[in-house]
Parts: sequence; structure tokens; C-alpha cells
Amino acid sequence: MTDRTEDRFHRALTLHRDTLLEWLNGDSRSQDVRLGGATTKEVLQVISELKDILERIDDGTFGDCKECDDKVESERLELDYTTTVCLAHYSEGQIRALERDLELAAKVQRQLLPCCIPESPDIEIEVHVEPARIVGGDYYDFFSCPGGTQGLAIADVMGKGLPASMLMSNLQASLRLLGPEHDEPSKLAVRLNELFRNNLKLISFISIFLAKIDAEAGILQYCNAGHHPPILWEAASGSIRWLMPTGPAIGLTHDAGFKSETLPIGSGDLLLLYTDGLVEARNAQGAEFGEERLATYVKDYALQPADDFMTGLRNAAQSFVEKFHDDVTLMVVKFL
Ligand SMILES: [Zn+2]
Repeated sequence: MTDRTEDRFHRALTLHRDTLLEWLNGDSRSQDVRLGGATTKEVLQVISELKDILERIDDGTFGDCKECDDKVESERLELDYTTTVCLAHYSEGQIRALERDLELAAKVQRQLLPCCIPESPDIEIEVHVEPARIVGGDYYDFFSCPGGTQGLAIADVMGKGLPASMLMSNLQASLRLLGPEHDEPSKLAVRLNELFRNNLKLISFISIFLAKIDAEAGILQYCNAGHHPPILWEAASGSIRWLMPTGPAIGLTHDAGFKSETLPIGSGDLLLLYTDGLVEARNAQGAEFGEERLATYVKDYALQPADDFMTGLRNAAQSFVEKFHDDVTLMVVKFL
């Protein structure tokens, strides 16, 4: 397992533990209040598991197989961080069950991605998905917003496999149902957070970028809930702007204070959304593709039509890393 993956586990599990502790100590707790159907005893149990795992990450024993000297496959830790034996000790039946779960997860996930990209005389959208070997947590979607404006989302669900796919299907249903009812992305984020924050069983959270595009009025409004900052290239000035987080990831805290930002958009502007699989991809020498490389690419090629821009970026990333270990999802929105 790479340091980066360990860091990511450490960050995610620490946040998760803190959220649970906050709930345990919070005002909302009473005899009757349950966290996503869990009792106080179950919450304490999960907190204690998380504490053990964080200690093992700290002392470097996380991922050690308890049956032999090997490491547990990191893909399997991503699916279930409590895994303590490597595949070599699994029976054929257990391996088959594992494969069935993965197949189901992949099937759920394929059905979740939108069938078509919205067409409009004002905007051009291109999407590219590079799935990693194991089912990943990338998600994107389009939805209609009040007043006929276009909503779009790109998200990364922490965790993989079947639990992540189930969480994603909840997210899809929620977005499509709630998107048209909320005139501001931050209000939508608040609502999603309310829906997801108490779901203890999922041991997960969602970083998501929500945007509303009013191409006719030339306005982009967004709420970035803990997602990698998309890049907006402004044709008039030739400069880029990082759309930094305006709130934490969904499901982390009770009172998240999400904010919306509003920006004018002009003809020729380009918006690039992506997931961490792109910027965190490393080449054989250990160098990361990184945000700077991405920003340079955008500055150099933003004048291209959306499809050429996308193909070029995909090729540039591909030739840099050779092989992606995580999902990569890219979305380009060009304002005409
Ligand atoms: Zn082993």
C-alpha cells in the first residue's frame, strides 16, 4: 500500500471516528435517538474498531496478514478496511462469494451513470470515465434545476465495492428527486447532508461538486462539498480559477455550513471537473500527475472544442502514468 493510500485511509477513518464521537457527545443524543438505526452500543463498537485500525496505520502494521508474512491486497482493504487475511487463505467458495459481490457492485454502478449527456445550444459537455480494475467510487450526473437551468454533479464516494455502489444509488435517487426542488446548490448540499450524515452502516462519505448552469443568463452557481477543486478557464482573461471547497464532504458533520458561490460565465469559458484518480495518479518514478500539470494543460488547450480537449487530456494523462490504479472521471463543460 502506498503512503498516499494510507494517508487517505487515515484521514477518512479519523474523520469518521470524530463524527461518531461528536454524535455520542452531542445534544441530539437521547435514549431514543438512533444513528441510522444503530444503537449507542453499536456506535461504541465501531469507534473502538476505528481506533484499532488507526493505531495499526500509525505503527505500520495496517494491512498485515494475520496468517502469513504477506500484506492483504490493498484493493481488498479498500473494499473492507477490516480485512485481516490475504486471499491465499480463502476457500474457493469464499473467493466465489467475493467475486459475486464485485460483479453485482459493477452492475449496480454501470446502471447508475447517466445514459446521455444533455444537449443544449449554449453548452457543450464531454465526459470520460476510466474505470480501475476494482469497482470504484466515482460518480457523475445531470439533473434539471428550477427555471429550466442545468444541474450537474461530480462526486467521489469514499469506499468501494458493493457498499459504495449502494450509497451511490441512494445519491442518484436523491439528486434526481431533490435537484429540481432546490434553486441553490448549497441548499441541495444541506439536504443531501441531512439524508446521509446519520447513516453509520455505510462508514463512508461523499465529496461532491454541485453546479447550476444558467447559460442564457451567463451564470454559474456552485457548492463544492469537499471535492477536488474544478478549474474554470476564463476566455476573456485567459486565466484560470480553482473552484475551492465551500463546505465539507457530505456525511461528515451535522452543521456543515455549505455555501454557494456565483460566477459570471462568458462565451468560450471552459469548466473542467475531475476526480482524485487523475491528480493523484503516479508514474513509474513516483511523480504525481498533480494539479499544476492539470492547470497547465487547461491553459494551453482551453481554446479547443470540448471533444478535442477531452481526448487530448486523456492522452496526456495516459502517457504520463501508463496505468491508472484508481477510477478517473473527467467532465468538460464548454460555454458557447
Ligand atoms: Zn496471508
